[in-house]
Amino acid sequence: MPAGNDIGGRRSSSTKKNASCSFCRKSYREVGPLVEGPGDVYICGECIELCQSILDQEQRRRGSNKPLFKRIASPREIVSHLDQYVIGQTEAKRVMAVAVHNHYKRLTLGWEGSDVEIDKSNILLVGPTGSGKTLLARSLARMLNVPFAIGDATTLTEAGYVGEDGENLLLKLLHAADFDVESAQRGIIYIDEIDKIGRTSNNVSITRDVSGEGVQQSLLKMLEGTIANVPPQGGRKHPEQQYIPIDTTNILFICGGTFSGIDNIIRRRLGKRSIGFTQSLSTHVADDMRTLIPQVISDDILEFGLIPELIGRLPLITALTPLDEAGLMQVLTEPRNAIVKQYQSLFQMENCEIAFTESGLQEIARQALAKGTGARGLRSIIENVMLEAMFELPDQPRGSKFMIDESIVRGERSLFPKMPESKSA
Ligand code: ADP
Repeated sequence: MPAGNDIGGRRSSSTKKNASCSFCRKSYREVGPLVEGPGDVYICGECIELCQSILDQEQRRRGSNKPLFKRIASPREIVSHLDQYVIGQTEAKRVMAVAVHNHYKRLTLGWEGSDVEIDKSNILLVGPTGSGKTLLARSLARMLNVPFAIGDATTLTEAGYVGEDGENLLLKLLHAADFDVESAQRGIIYIDEIDKIGRTSNNVSITRDVSGEGVQQSLLKMLEGTIANVPPQGGRKHPEQQYIPIDTTNILFICGGTFSGIDNIIRRRLGKRSIGFTQSLSTHVADDMRTLIPQVISDDILEFGLIPELIGRLPLITALTPLDEAGLMQVLTEPRNAIVKQYQSLFQMENCEIAFTESGLQEIARQALAKGTGARGLRSIIENVMLEAMFELPDQPRGSKFMIDESIVRGERSLFPKMPESKSA
């Protein structure tokens, strides 16, 4: 601000070299230009910044006293919202909808005056890769408009610093909440690969787990409710505090894992004979998963290797089943932001049209099934198929129509057959 500039009766006082900030007492020489108020009062840039951050915090605090939601969506409404984004997984949707409904009812209405305190119900999702665990958690948070962060239990293991890692997760949530602490404290954290921090030999996937139980212990506190001191590194400057205390009591934790091999534990518990010879091995295994996984109970998780205290803090256990070919085809076309719909929009932008035949979609689903990564494999397959089309699209005449069928997906035919080179006369 140039010397003597007058804004609303306040002026900078770079001309008064002997002036000092009335708040921090630092001199003009130390802190640079000061803003002068009436009656020989000055304030420096640093103190202005500090005051602004105090005011912002106060504003947020007041704002957060307002009820979290005007109305809490009913479990039925939550499920019907999830249905727009997630194919199948009916049971998991119902369990999560009820849990989330109760969780936010408890937070919004409060239970002052009541002797009965309702415990938070963190959720454990058991299901294979690409069945929609992360998608469910993310869709829920989006619907409720609460901050959401994703962490991975295996990275907690690798870092090995008990305590610090959970705080990093909270920092992510704080980022998602735009550093609004109150809002972060009512957010949702999804922790993936929770099964990889087990401790027993049932968990065959452990390769580097040296501190599994240590990590589980550090998670326990967070899941149950603790005040964690989160260092705002990389975040906005908070001149008045080095750490931001975050109360995790009302954060909803959703943990997910594939728990590969848990079907054997369930089968043993149910006293079922293992694989017969009437079906091919792969069909049988898939069918088995579909019928066994939904029957998972906490004893199975315990046998798998999670410590009892952790299981105790994840009172809701629900299963997601692997998507079959038909399910994968639905994933391609039905969700609100389905991949096929996305490609159709891209083509519309160029005034062209693209369609997929049933057999084309089936072939994509079949290839994804073979990859064994559930719906996760779909995107890379379809992107591969569409690469040539996306390359050629901008050069196509307006109104062009294209059809992706089985042979194109298999790479047996090209959508844009090359013209034979014209021979010069
Ligand atoms: P998981 O966490 O179970 O490994 P994700 O939820 O990360 O799987 O799924 C990866 C991607 O696959 C999602 O972004 C979504 O596009 C798709 N997907 C997976 N499961 C479903 C489902 N049940 N319905 C719709 N899309 C799904």
